[in-house]
Amino acid sequence: MSRKFFVGGNWKCNGTIEEVKKIVTTLNEAEVPSEDDVEVVVSPPFVFLPVVKTILRSDFSVAAQNCWARKGGAFTGEVSADMLINLGIPWVILGHSERRLLLNESNEFVGDKVSYALAQGLKVIACVGETLEQRESGSTMAVVAAQTKAIAERVSNWSNIVLAYEPVWAIGTGKVATPSQAQEVHFNLRKWLQDNAGAEVALSTRIIYGGSVNGANCRELAAQPDVDGFLVGGASLKPEFIDIIKSAT
Ligand code: PGA
Repeated sequence: MSRKFFVGGNWKCNGTIEEVKKIVTTLNEAEVPSEDDVEVVVSPPFVFLPVVKTILRSDFSVAAQNCWARKGGAFTGEVSADMLINLGIPWVILGHSERRLLLNESNEFVGDKVSYALAQGLKVIACVGETLEQRESGSTMAVVAAQTKAIAERVSNWSNIVLAYEPVWAIGTGKVATPSQAQEVHFNLRKWLQDNAGAEVALSTRIIYGGSVNGANCRELAAQPDVDGFLVGGASLKPEFIDIIKSAT
């Protein structure tokens, strides 16, 4: 089964309204491969979601960067999946390492979020990845398997999940994983899915790579058989994001 290439732009906690509009204008004017060949999703901070959704070209879509684990209510500062659906936001990024590490989100909490968001009708970019210390101690696969397991235990239908492998040591550091390092983990994650969620899920689920992806290194990574696209941070705020989208073909 062929998996459509997926490119996500994670804008993190960046931008003014003027800057956001400028980025969208650049994206709107770009010539990129057709929707048949690549799915593009950009993820602005919550406050800019409505405006970006309104002005962004119709062949790209938007994602929130987080949402609450359950229905809304007395949860000051949180945004519920139901609200995102109400606004017509189709995607959400969950389990990003910045939230796991800086805000202490556990595997179980991320799994709860993924399960609730899917149940409300959102599509989810679910992030997993090891720290440098974990890689150096040889526990990369154990770590990403445990993170994926907490999702798999709570989810039976994987058709609206994109799995993002983002080694923490590669995020925002300029130290991108080599194509063979990325391929090795993606291959093993697909094998894990095969053993734990079934052959069909393993074949059809897109596993994308994130961590210092840029216009210069994307093509070699994209050529790996189990790399189905990217989640891009820093470079998604720059015109080179277009080059990364073009690496789909
Ligand atoms: P980076 O971030 O591309 O700036 O390394 C990737 C991410 O955090 O999703």
